Amino acid sequence: MAESDCLFCKIANGDVPASVVRESARTIAFRDINPQAPTHVLVITKDHWFSVGELANGDPDLLAEMLREAVAVAADEGLPGHRIVFNTGSAAGQTVWHVHAHVLGGRGLAWPPG
Ligand code: 5GP
Ligand code: ZN
Repeated sequence: MAESDCLFCKIANGDVPASVVRESARTIAFRDINPQAPTHVLVITKDHWFSVGELANGDPDLLAEMLREAVAVAADEGLPGHRIVFNTGSAAGQTVWHVHAHVLGGRGLAWPPG
């Protein structure tokens, strides 16, 4: 179900353009507009889910589909390694309230992250 004022619902619906790199039955992957690494792709659910925890409880098969797609993005990009991040809550930097996995790679990824 789309939320009318949600940016990522609009991207999923095609109402806001994005650089789409992959699509599956229930997910879509597109390049982040403000990349933090040479590869920075967001994987979202086509339906609106608020957070990864809500999705894990409400539709674990869809969360698994998201993760398969995130790993497939890393393979498509030829990354030797990658990081998958879910920011949850504004204290962790979440700015869009529609679940999204960040797929990051293509440069050295410091661990632990800053
Ligand atoms: P968060 O901070 O919520 O974990 O991640 C939201 C991400 O969405 C940010 O990395 C931000 O750059 C990205 N973003 C925000 N607006 C847009 C947009 O209109 N198009 C695309 N492709 N990415 C966006
Ligand atoms: Zn949404």
